[in-house]
Amino acid sequence: MSQPSQPLSSAASLPHILLIPSAGMGHLVPFVRLATALSVRRIAVSILAARPTVSAAESHLLSSLPSSIPILDFPLAPLDPSHFPPSSDPFYLHYEALRRSAHLLPPLLSVTGTSFSALIIDVSITSTFLPVASAANIPCLLLFTSSASMFALYSSIPSLSLSSPDFNIAGILKIPNSSLPPPLRDPTNLFTTQLVDNSRALPLAQGILINTFPALETEVLIAFNSGQIVPSLPPVIAVGPLPLLGNLAENHPPGASQAMRWLDEQPERSVMYVSFGSRTALPTEQIRELGAGLEMSGCRFLWVVKSTKVDREETGEIEELVGKGYLARVEGRGLVVREWVEQMVVLSHRAVAGFLSHCGWNSVMEAVAAGVTVLAWPRTADQRVNAALVARRGVGIWPDHWVWEAEPRRKGWWRRRRLGIR
Ligand code: UDP
Ligand code: UDP
Repeated sequence: MSQPSQPLSSAASLPHILLIPSAGMGHLVPFVRLATALSVRRIAVSILAARPTVSAAESHLLSSLPSSIPILDFPLAPLDPSHFPPSSDPFYLHYEALRRSAHLLPPLLSVTGTSFSALIIDVSITSTFLPVASAANIPCLLLFTSSASMFALYSSIPSLSLSSPDFNIAGILKIPNSSLPPPLRDPTNLFTTQLVDNSRALPLAQGILINTFPALETEVLIAFNSGQIVPSLPPVIAVGPLPLLGNLAENHPPGASQAMRWLDEQPERSVMYVSFGSRTALPTEQIRELGAGLEMSGCRFLWVVKSTKVDREETGEIEELVGKGYLARVEGRGLVVREWVEQMVVLSHRAVAGFLSHCGWNSVMEAVAAGVTVLAWPRTADQRVNAALVARRGVGIWPDHWVWEAEPRRKGWWRRRRLGIR
């Protein structure tokens, strides 16, 4: 998005949009970026914050928003987890709690006394919030937080046979069955039930916003807007790359964290940044093998290690994860941290040359915006669809034989993979 020419003026006379994210930093970050972009374009914005948040990172981001993005608190009644499969993802359970609270939105809005011009809601709450918005006569757009290619799959789900060897979408996008988000193979998984419901409701929206840009996903965007993918869809609008949060240099002075101080000491374009986003945990065995690989590679690296899906649950010492003696062996050449790093600031640092990424869509867009090459290791969900795009568009490379979270593991499987033995 280019910057607006006019500064924000008196909020009372401006159109006012309420943004409703679902859960997880991969959703909240693009919503906050969109809110920032709108607020500097003479549009008043508020963000609905469904509480309690799942992760500490979400609470922290919400509490650090500028006064130009006020928050409307939306307390959620907790769901009884015994009604859901025991393995249910905490973020998807939160989507579900929010989805079931859609009827509480109109009373909340009437208490605020604000007449909202439109809502922009997360795709994951589409099927319950769109009818409520329509009954309240408020135009409602969706923000899809992954790629347009993933949205092509998402919106086509009701008409696809999930057992096909591959999915040929409108003759412009071929997605192999092995790239299907693994939870979709289980019809009882919350991911599947919500996605199918949401996908059917898409035509009720007034528009669909995606954090992508035409040069990156040309054919898919054209196909959407000429009705070739799902004829009944509203306009699909590429709004990316969404502007970064605040002014990087101003908000993140050099040396502000251990990671930044370490990067400041490294030679230009010498460091591999290794991170799998905000909610992807690796089992200890994989952490050890990845550590061995980084050590053997001889490269400089900054590695954000994560062993639990929800940040509040991380405990213990890093050394327990990476193995005794590891930190001393790589000292000077590699830094391992287990904390939130300001990824956009890291990617924009002169010392960073490459990004080993799970290909969460925000990470891909941030790498593109910073001009950093991606080495893709997708782990689950939409990440293989995104990784294929990374490889296709020259954003980076994807060794597509690397395992995926859902693949069965035999003893020693990971070592055999690493050595190229099937
Ligand atoms: N992120 C960050 N620091 C971290 C981990 C993640 O700033 O230590 C940000 C990252 O820059 C991105 C978002 O959190 O904006 C994660 O979204 P993404 O779509 O890449 O992956 P997800 O976490 O949803 O799997
Ligand atoms: N999604 C959804 N319902 C679900 C799970 C995901 O509607 O139960 C949507 C989600 O909003 C996102 C897309 O499907 O835009 C890809 O979701 P995924 O879980 O792969 O990514 P993440 O939630 O980590 O960003």
